[in-house]
Amino acid sequence: MVKVYVEAYGCSQNIAETFMLARSIGEHVENAEKADIILIGTCVVIEHTEHRMLRRIKKLQKYGKKIVVYGCLPSARRELLKDDIIPITTWEFENAHKILGVDKSPLDEVFIWDSIATIPIANGCLGSCTYCITKVARGRIKSRREDWIVNMAKNVLNRGAVEIRISAQDTAAYGVDIESDLPTLIKKLVSLKGRYLLRVGMMEPRETLKILNPLLEAYASSKVYKFLHLPVQSGDNEILKKMNRGYTVDDFEKIVFRFRERFPEMTLSTDIIVGFPGENDETFENTMKLMEKIKPDILNITRFSPRPKTLAYRWKRPSTNKVKEWSQKITELHLENMRRRMEKMVGKEFNVVVPSHGKRGNYLARTINYVPVVLKKAKTGKFYRVHITDFSGAHLNGEILEEKEFL
Ligand code: SF4
Repeated sequence: MVKVYVEAYGCSQNIAETFMLARSIGEHVENAEKADIILIGTCVVIEHTEHRMLRRIKKLQKYGKKIVVYGCLPSARRELLKDDIIPITTWEFENAHKILGVDKSPLDEVFIWDSIATIPIANGCLGSCTYCITKVARGRIKSRREDWIVNMAKNVLNRGAVEIRISAQDTAAYGVDIESDLPTLIKKLVSLKGRYLLRVGMMEPRETLKILNPLLEAYASSKVYKFLHLPVQSGDNEILKKMNRGYTVDDFEKIVFRFRERFPEMTLSTDIIVGFPGENDETFENTMKLMEKIKPDILNITRFSPRPKTLAYRWKRPSTNKVKEWSQKITELHLENMRRRMEKMVGKEFNVVVPSHGKRGNYLARTINYVPVVLKKAKTGKFYRVHITDFSGAHLNGEILEEKEFL
């Protein structure tokens, strides 16, 4: 059997696809020296990552093996790869086995890490944001069939998964090209027998608004984590317009309000780009005000990185010092918000699921609201009642009180 050494970078979708591709090629080995093929799943979301990918490929080339580069680098920046590399673009993913001359399709099986399975439900999105290279790398949305997704879910449940993640560049856009939609898919998945939790991946606000009511209904299932990843990117309407995001700050707040009204303790995750062309103290203050108001539980802060092949590439940017100052300010605010939320949970009891190991030999459990609880002793795939002893940074620490049947 062909031996494959794999490295995967970027979002959960890219990582999941890279491991699916690896399984179709052959047997996974931990050491690049022992491999026949080296497979690297790449990301180009910001310039720094792209450079890192290129450095890593160069280093892996020293082993003198056949190198396959999958993902967003060959899709958006093919010109940066040398001829001795085999590129597989994201739109070639489903037929990659034919390109590589192997029998097994990447769609035959999804990868399970500990007790977590990620199912990539679609590729691409419906947007045309002026800064985003992912659109170049992944194109217009192409949804995978509902029956394939449901079969993959049944398969991973039989293999012991307790957490299923459905991922896409915009899960809210799922199905628009195949006469389906996300709420319908969620309902089909949660109707499967088994003790497991569904984590719905990132949803663009513009598409989320269109399905808000049925989405809230679908989320009501006890098998769906009350976790919403809704990237706002800016709290200023002028900046949102320049980004071509297709929604306003009010639209974003409306979604957050409706979700929190229904699921008050849920986890809200959002993303912010700091220093977009045209950003000034006033537009940044609007973002600060929004963050003070909605207090997201998870905040991913990225400094604007101009990407080639996008409209915003040559637009004039604010100074590096300003961007640094703004990101520090918003990070401080977020740390304070997070500390307050965590403090409130100390001393309480929760039911949790343990989908995976954590760092330093610990276990990473989740409440129904997707709050991370680190446990010293546990078993992956099990459910427990836990007591929260304290917190460190973004996670709670807990002790097991008893084993449970479900959350
Ligand atoms: S889709 Fe975006 S985040 Fe994911 S690997 Fe591609 S560039 Fe990176």
